[in-house]
Amino acid sequence: MKKLKLFHSLKFRLFLLVAFVGIAPNIVLRMGVLASYESRAVSNRSIDVLSQAKVLGSQVVTYNYIADTSSEVINAQLKQLSNVYDGRVLLVNPGFQIVQDTYGLDTGKTIISEEVVRSFQGEEITKYDSKNRYIELAIPLKSADAEENQGVMLVSVSTDSIMMNYDFLRDNAHVIEIASGVVVLLAAFFCAKLLVRPFGKMTKSLEEIQAEDVDERLMVSDYTETEAMSNAFNQMLGRMRAIDDSRQEFVANVSHELKTPLTSMKVLADSLLSQEDVPAELYKEFMGDITEEIERENTIINDLLSLVKMDRSAGTLNISVVNINELLEMIMKRLRPIAEKQSIELVLESFRPVSAEVDEVKLSLALNNLVENAIKYNKKDGWVHVTLNADHKYFFVRVEDSGIGIPEESLEHIYERFFRVDKSHSREIKGTGLGLAITRNAILMHRGAIKAHSKEGEGTIFTVRIPLAYVG
Ligand code: ADP
Repeated sequence: MKKLKLFHSLKFRLFLLVAFVGIAPNIVLRMGVLASYESRAVSNRSIDVLSQAKVLGSQVVTYNYIADTSSEVINAQLKQLSNVYDGRVLLVNPGFQIVQDTYGLDTGKTIISEEVVRSFQGEEITKYDSKNRYIELAIPLKSADAEENQGVMLVSVSTDSIMMNYDFLRDNAHVIEIASGVVVLLAAFFCAKLLVRPFGKMTKSLEEIQAEDVDERLMVSDYTETEAMSNAFNQMLGRMRAIDDSRQEFVANVSHELKTPLTSMKVLADSLLSQEDVPAELYKEFMGDITEEIERENTIINDLLSLVKMDRSAGTLNISVVNINELLEMIMKRLRPIAEKQSIELVLESFRPVSAEVDEVKLSLALNNLVENAIKYNKKDGWVHVTLNADHKYFFVRVEDSGIGIPEESLEHIYERFFRVDKSHSREIKGTGLGLAITRNAILMHRGAIKAHSKEGEGTIFTVRIPLAYVG
């Protein structure tokens, strides 16, 4: 496990990479140079020996030495050749008998080797035996005008001197290689350490941010990559902080909103308890007020539950094909009594029949809130116009009222949870400040959009656009 972890470390991999790039070429170079040295030296030596042997060979032919090996001149030259090249010369007659051996070991013996046979057929052979370290040559002995071979000259020379040079070069190369290897390993180690340092810096900063939970930002700009990572992280951090802030604010608002009716109830109950001989009418009145507060508490909790449900069930819409005209008519019917109480005229105008794939319950809640607000925040004898229209892709619902309007600076806040324009006048009109948040959530879940236009004192227009076909 630990081994695996080491291999997954970027530092270790960089170390390996630099070490490999530094060391591998040295090894290849050494092997290449040594191999080419060996082949070049051997081929030079072969050419040398061959030319000497050929000269001697022609003299052997001239002196007819194969038939009579008494020539001092040739004997001396044979000796010289074998001494100079640290080798051995054998002369073989057509009967495959060795007539001269400079080592004096095999004279008179018979030799039938592949080289000898091929050489009798006129072939000149050079062979290098790298294992036993010698070069072997087989030269046919033939005068220019004769047809038959007089014999074959076999020369084998040692390559020990070449190999000594080779070994010396190899040993030197090894020393240089080890020295440069150590340097490369050190360089690789420091390189890897240096290159990975920004990531360590990043981890440290992240740990600091996490531990101290301060309003700090991450910035490691050593590499473009770490800078991009830092930026992306900061964006995410910003979003998370915003979410966290809004959640805290939401919890604070919820607590506050839920506490207000409770406080009122406590005040009412306390004042009843602290008085003696309270008349029954006062009890009745205070109890009425307490019931109202309970109702308010209930409304807030119901709205909160709808909101939470909307948040949690995001993506789990219960889609079916719904007749939007009928849906709006139902909403109007339900709200008409409230409108009539304030003598507000409620009109629905449908430009065409519309059927759409929507979640009936959620959409109906959203539209209900809009029409209800238009009635609630209206003036006496005012009007509310609801229109339904559609094109080939979307349907549009427009809720227009002749009400009190929304001040421009509040317009961008109306979808926030618990936001209510001007708490003092909203106090007479009951509400929780959650309705539009619920409406907007429901519309966004349908991939729709909502917009509000308003002029204070004149009225408000909400337009909703929702796709006819649901796209999940
Ligand atoms: P509420 O429960 O207070 O109605 P909403 O979220 O539905 O909460 O609305 C938020 C605030 O936006 C309301 O308190 C009100 O001040 C304002 N508002 C909403 N609709 C209208 C409208 N049609 N005309 C005027 N003001 C409106």
